[in-house]
Order: sequence, then structure tokens, then C-alpha cells
Amino acid sequence: MKYDVLVIGAGPAGTIAASNLAGSGLETLLVDAKPKEEIGKKVCGNALGGQHLETIGIPDLPDYTYYQRVKGIRLYSPNLKASLNLELEGTHGYMLDRKEFGSYLLNRARNQGAEFLDNHKAEISLSSGIVVGGKKIKADMTLVASGMSNFSRNIKELSSFQTDKNKETVIAFRQILKLKPKDMDTKYLMIHLNQEIAPVGYCWTFPMYETDDSVVANVGIGMAKQENPMIKQRLENYKELLPDIFSGSEVLESGGGEVPISHPQETLVGLDKHLKPNGILLAGDAGNTVSPIHDGGIGSSMKAGKAAAEAMILTHETGELDNLFTYNSGYLDAYGYKQVKQLMLMKQIRKSNNHEIDAAMCGGIIKDEDIEKISMGQELKIPTFDKIRRGVRAKFRKDGIFAAKKLLKANRLVKEITELYEEYPAAPVALPYWISKLDNLLERA
Ligand SMILES: Cc1cc2nc3c(=O)[nH]c(=O)nc-3n(C[C@H](O)[C@H](O)[C@H](O)COP(=O)(O)OP(=O)(O)OC[C@H]3O[C@@H](n4cnc5c(N)ncnc54)[C@H](O)[C@@H]3O)c2cc1C
Repeated sequence: MKYDVLVIGAGPAGTIAASNLAGSGLETLLVDAKPKEEIGKKVCGNALGGQHLETIGIPDLPDYTYYQRVKGIRLYSPNLKASLNLELEGTHGYMLDRKEFGSYLLNRARNQGAEFLDNHKAEISLSSGIVVGGKKIKADMTLVASGMSNFSRNIKELSSFQTDKNKETVIAFRQILKLKPKDMDTKYLMIHLNQEIAPVGYCWTFPMYETDDSVVANVGIGMAKQENPMIKQRLENYKELLPDIFSGSEVLESGGGEVPISHPQETLVGLDKHLKPNGILLAGDAGNTVSPIHDGGIGSSMKAGKAAAEAMILTHETGELDNLFTYNSGYLDAYGYKQVKQLMLMKQIRKSNNHEIDAAMCGGIIKDEDIEKISMGQELKIPTFDKIRRGVRAKFRKDGIFAAKKLLKANRLVKEITELYEEYPAAPVALPYWISKLDNLLERA
């Protein structure tokens, strides 16, 4: 049997792509290395913003796929004296039951007509290229949605995607804890910034559900991989910082993983040596389509899966493989612009120490709406009077000036990267020159 599309990996990216492809009548084979019962089972923070779902055509999730809905995120300064509230305007967040959510997405794809093979691992054979479960599958196009796996890494080498130059990885470790907090607003997800405990990252406490005498929460830490992690010890340090929440807590489950942060792969569409699309595409963690600010990748992976499906449907209809390249701009519109703007803010945060973050948050130099705007991918436009007021505050606070300068730099870089991505090439031939400009900007950021 020959398929129109082979989708490798039944995570959020692969299942959304498969349901859109099969729903449009393309013969779609979805494969995963795991057994069916384990699809969706992944070590994760399990938080998802409802805004992602609306744009991929799932207006509301069935009750069994999540533990609770939340109102937003509370972001705490390292000295714990200030917090910013990031509300999810017009929508809500979900604390997912990741396994049930995964099965739901898989069933959706199968109901649309996608064929699914579990226990089928994709590998690269020197003689035959991609093989699945030891066999060569005939397909016109292949979507690689296999997360942070060796297969994803190897396919980039094989298929002349850009390498992992300039890309960074966050290492994350989380526990499911039974807590007996003194006081806790379980409708908000808590994020604690602390560059000493979690350099270039953060610690989180995401409440899942309440019992009569406890709160069960997903508690974790994500940090730069290269920063000498000792990540389990660092999670303990986080718990010691907040005895009102964590003293007497009981560990129900532990596990870790990696998340790619930075910009999306320079091209999400594989090219041959003549810069022609070769029929292989990347989505989700495999293509670095993850938010560099909060390391959330479930929503953006689904958006990437949908954008990839749209380009493949167009290619199938027109018979023109060149049309696959439209996936790059499709993803930028769906999430990529936001992602690269967030990257510029993240790069400045990572250069800040705890004192500077405290100064910025406690001194009103940075406000709720600034974080909200930048993390939604908007440029900061601070009115002149407010700018002067914040400038005066910064001057009278130790480290305030440094914090203000970094905020201004982030804002400038957000503008620059937006302009650069607005010029993203319409055809692969212009890609090498565009990539050289991107490299130059990233070096300055
Ligand atoms: C500790 C941690 C906490 C996180 N917290 C959050 C959070 O709170 N919110 C959020 O939005 N994101 C979070 N993320 C990131 C999020 O989990 C990922 O971005 C998201 O799962 C990516 O989806 P995906 O479809 O690309 O890949 P995955 O979900 O990883 O799915 C990939 C699939 O491919 C399969 N596969 C792999 N290799 C092969 C192969 N060779 N052949 C066949 N199949 C293969 C796997 O079995 C898997 O089913 C977190 C990540 C970690 C590690």
C-alpha cells in the first residue's frame, strides 16, 4: 500500500496533523514506537492555554482529558516580594491529564480515517532511508513529529535541514506531589523565577486537583542544560524556599525530560542539495516549535501539526512539491512570530541576575501587561510619561538601571527579529542569505 503521508510520532503535533490530513481525504499512516495504551504518557508540566485549542478547531476539551481549568499564571520574583498576574483573557488554561488527552487526540485522528500502527519505531537505514518497524513504507510525504528523539536528530542530518547551531535545550524535572499547603489559590499556576536555583529557567507549581485534606500538584524545574544541572537537588532547594507549600509533601511520581528552546528550525521543510523540497517535514519538538519563554510546547506543536497538514494538502492537490515550502510561513503565522519574539525576551532574562529581576518586578519597572504583551508576541509601546516614571524608579533602585536597560534591549530586539521574520523567503533559494542574517542577529542578542 502506498500512502499520501506517513506521520512519525503520535504526540500532539503528529495526531493533529494526521486528523487534518485524513479529514481532507489524504491516505495517512500514523506510527508510534510506543504501545497504544501509552500514547500521551509523557513527563510534562501538563499546562495548556485554551487559546491554542480554539485555533486548531477544538473549541472545548472533553472533561475526562483534564483535571481542572485555571484562570492564569502568577509569576513570582526571586525574593518572593512581588508577583505579576498573567490572566488568560477570554479563555482559560487546562491542567491536562496528559495520557487521556493523548488518547483523545489519537482517537480524533483515527476517527478522521488515519490508519495507526503502534509499536512501530522509525529508524534510518543507510540503504533504504526511513524504515518503520524494519520495513520501508511507501509515502509521497513524511512528517517527522517524533519529539526530542534520536530519530528526530538523525533525520535532520540526513535531510539537509539546518543543524542545531544556535539552538538551546532546557532540561526539566518534575514531580507529582501531594501537598498540605497552609493557603493556596489552586486556580492559578505558580511560576517562580530564581536564577540561582533555575538558571535560564524557572520553577513551577501547577495545582491539579484537591482532595479533602490535600492538593495534588505538578511541581518542577526547567533550566539551561549546560549549567551543571544537579536538577533533582535544585528541585529540593526550590521546595525549601517555600515551606508553607512544601513541608510534609509526599512524592507520588517523578521524571524528567528535555525541551528545545529557541527559534523554529530555519526551515521546517527538508531540502535536497538543489534546495528543492524533499518531501520530509518537521513539527513539534522535532522542529523546535516550542515557546522559549515558558517552554510550553503542547499548543505550539499542535499548531505546527495543523500548518504542516495545510501545506501537505496543498501539495497533494496541486502535485507541486515546491508548495511544501509554504509550511514555513504557515507556521510563522500560526505561532512562529510569537515564538521568535519570546526568544528575544528570554535571551535578556537569561542575562539578568536575581537582584535585577527583583528590582524590575518590585520597583514597577516591568508590569503585568509588559510580560503579557511580550509573551503574546507584541512589541512594548510604553507611553512617554510612563517611561519617565519607570526611569526615575529605576534610578533609585539598586540594579534598577540594569533591569530597565535589558527590558529596552529586549524590546529593540523584538522589533528587529519581527522585521527579519517578516522577510522570511517565499522560496528556498533565498534561504541561505536569510539564515546568515538570522545568525548575525542571534549573535548580537
Ligand atoms: C518536564 C517537562 C515539562 C513540560 N511541561 C510542559 C507544559 O506544562 N506545557 C506545555 O505546553 N509543554 C510542556 N512541555 C513540552 C511538551 O511536553 C512538548 O513540547 C510536547 O509534548 C511536544 O509534542 P510533540 O508532538 O512534538 O512530541 P511528543 O509529545 O514528545 O511526542 C512524540 C511522539 O513520537 C514518538 N516517537 C519518538 N521516536 C519515535 C520513533 N523513532 N518512531 C516512532 N515514534 C517515535 C514518541 O513515542 C511520542 O509518542 C514539557 C516538557 C517536559 C520535558
